[in-house]
Amino acid sequence: LFAGPCDFVKGVTTMEALPPADRIEVCFAGRSNVGKSSLINALTGRKALARASNTPGRTQEINYFALGPSRYLVDLPGYGYAEAPKPIVERWQRLLKGYLAGRQTLRRAFVLIDTRHGVKSVDEEILTLLDRSAVTFQVVMTKADKVSQAEREAVLDQVRGALKKHPAAYPELVMTSSEKGMGIETLRTIVATLG
Ligand code: GDP
Repeated sequence: LFAGPCDFVKGVTTMEALPPADRIEVCFAGRSNVGKSSLINALTGRKALARASNTPGRTQEINYFALGPSRYLVDLPGYGYAEAPKPIVERWQRLLKGYLAGRQTLRRAFVLIDTRHGVKSVDEEILTLLDRSAVTFQVVMTKADKVSQAEREAVLDQVRGALKKHPAAYPELVMTSSEKGMGIETLRTIVATLG
C-alpha cells in the first residue's frame, strides 16, 4: 500500500467539495507543530507531500491524498493556533464536525500528541468531538526522539489517564519519531490492515 505513489487529490474547505465516499479513509489530526506533516511524509516515504497543507491559505483545508487505488489518507488542518481569528476557528470547527459526523468511509482518526507535552486541553476538545461523532481514534505520540525513556513513560501515563474518559479511544498508542523512523512501519501496517 505504501510502496506506490501517494498523490495529492484535493484540498477541501466545504462538505460539498469532499470527494465521493467510495473508498476507506483514515485521517490525521493534531495541534499545529505537533509533527503531522513530518509524520505523513515519513509514512508515505515522500519528502514534500504534506507541505502543501502548511502553506498559508491552505491551513484550513482538509487535504486528501490517494493511498494506493483504494484508500484515502486525509490530512486535517492543524488546530490550536494561538492567533487564529475567531471566524476562521468557527468555520474550521463547523467543517470538522460535519466531516467527522458524516463521513461513512472514515475508519479511524489518528490524533497526534507531542511526546514532550502530552494531552492538552485543546487536544481534549478534539477527543470529545471524536467521541460524540463515534469515530474510533488512536493516539500517535510524535517526536519521541526528543525525550528520555523516563520522560516517555511519564507522558504515556498522563496520556493513558486522559484517554480513560474517552469511549472512542483505541487503547493502543503508537510511539513515533519521524526523524528516526520509529513507529512508522507499525503505523503503516495499522493503516493498511484497517477494513
Ligand atoms: P505540523 O505543523 O504538525 O505539520 O509539524 P511539522 O511536521 O511541520 O513539524 C514541526 C517541527 O517539528 C519541525 O521543525 C519538524 O522538523 C519537527 N519535527 C517533526 N517531527 C519530528 C520528530 O520526529 N523528531 C524531531 N526531533 N523533530 C520533529
